[in-house]
Formats: sequence, structure tokens, C-alpha cells
Amino acid sequence: MSKPRLAIFDFACCEGCQLQIVNLEEEILDLISLVDPVEWREAISDQSDTYDIAIVEGSITRPEDEERVKKIRERSKVLIALGACAAIGGVNKLKNNFDMDDVKKCVYGKDADLPHLNTAMTKAVDEVVPVDFYVHGCPIDRDEFKHVVKSVALGKKPNIPVYPVCVECKLRENVCRYEFNELCLGPITRAGCGARCPSNGSWCFGCRGLAPDPNVDAAKEVMDKYKKTVDDLRDRILLFNSKQEHADV
Ligand code: SF4
Ligand code: SF4
Ligand code: SF4
Repeated sequence: MSKPRLAIFDFACCEGCQLQIVNLEEEILDLISLVDPVEWREAISDQSDTYDIAIVEGSITRPEDEERVKKIRERSKVLIALGACAAIGGVNKLKNNFDMDDVKKCVYGKDADLPHLNTAMTKAVDEVVPVDFYVHGCPIDRDEFKHVVKSVALGKKPNIPVYPVCVECKLRENVCRYEFNELCLGPITRAGCGARCPSNGSWCFGCRGLAPDPNVDAAKEVMDKYKKTVDDLRDRILLFNSKQEHADV
């Protein structure tokens, strides 16, 4: 049986998630035994309009990007959003919170009035086309990427946590960042990273997006216990989760 053809495309992003794939080094051979890479600008020179699995990295920031990702969707049986930029818009969505003229002045200075400058809102991929599966994080976790691609290649549904980072953090017996008078988005952020940041002495900044079913009551309890307010959290949520539907915390 022929292997599914896989293509990787990038939009507005730093390409750090693709770099994580490159960093798999020999482990890539495991994946290549299951899929046939036919386009991947960062690693191979081949190009193809025929593929089964499309992996899309980056946010959709321009009208021409929307047309491009729609074509990719039409050509693929399965579409995977790779990394926070693609999955939730990520830091690229921060600009959506500001007046676009101010954004242009900030970025382009005296050239802010040039007519070709983009003023479109930034979108996650699933705000333009349907997405089948997600690899979350900024950057992605390499093991989770392998799990998602292997599952899709074998026709299975990847197993991605829906519970919050706090669950993994407590399993690791970390001292809660709130004990250090810090704010942490762990109670409302999707797990799957092994609580990477709190395990290394930092608060969680929400790069894996909001947990689909966060324990809002537990989050409120944490806020109350440490005399923090929900408004304190809101600003932090915007870093990765601007203009996303999120829990009413
Ligand atoms: S999710 Fe983070 S690491 Fe990945 S492409 Fe976007 S900014 Fe870069
Ligand atoms: S709030 Fe942050 S530091 Fe505290 S348990 Fe949850 S993830 Fe860990
Ligand atoms: S702890 Fe939070 S910010 Fe850090 S990798 Fe996990 S989800 Fe991302």
C-alpha cells in the first residue's frame, strides 16, 4: 500500500515549529517510513500539488494567504495546524487588539501610509478553513508532533490532552508559581507540554491555547486564594489567545 503524501507549508510565523521537526534528526526516518514528504520548503527542494496530508504552520495575515490556504485545504484529505501561530493565531494575533493605524505606525514608522501595507486581521487557520488536527505549542513538542503524524498516517485519532496544565504540574510536584506571587495561566491552558514552564521555574503563558473544558471554578479558587483577580489574568491571556473564544474567567 502506498504511503500518504505529506506536504508542509508555512505562513506568517518564525518557522520555529518546522525547526523542531528538522531537529528530530534520525527520528524523522521513523516518520518517513509512514509518510512520503512531497513538499517541505525548509528541508527539501521538491514541490507538489498532490498530497494527502497538509501541515500548515503560521497565521493567516493577508487576503492572499486566505486564498492560498483554501487551495491547500481543497487539495488535502487531512489538514494539520502546526504550532500556536496556526492553531490559535498566537502572538501574531496581538495586533488585532489595537487600532490598525497605530499598528502600522509602530511597525513601519514614516512609511506607515504606503498603500500596499497589510491591514487585515490576523486569523488562526481554522478561522479560514476547517482543520482536522492540531499540534499545539510555541514551539511544538517534537514527541507530540510524531504522535499526531503517526496517528494520522495510520488512520487513528491523535490523543491530545483536554485537561489543564495544572494537572501535569501537580504530577511533577512543582511548587506553584502563585506561591512566588506570580500569575500563571496553567489552570486554563491545555496540557500536553508536561508543564514545561513551571517545571523550569517560569509561569505558564498559555502557548498551547485554552483548555477546551477548563475548570473555571478551580481557577477562580486559585485567584481568590492568592488574592489575584480575573482581570490580572486577562492581559496575560492576550499574549497567545487574542480574540479567541475562551472560558468566562
Ligand atoms: S508557534 Fe511559536 S515557534 Fe511556532 S512558528 Fe509560531 S512563533 Fe514560531
Ligand atoms: S497555576 Fe501554574 S504553577 Fe500553579 S499548579 Fe497550575 S500550572 Fe503549576
Ligand atoms: S507551560 Fe504553558 S507556556 Fe509553557 S509550554 Fe506549556 S502551555 Fe506553553
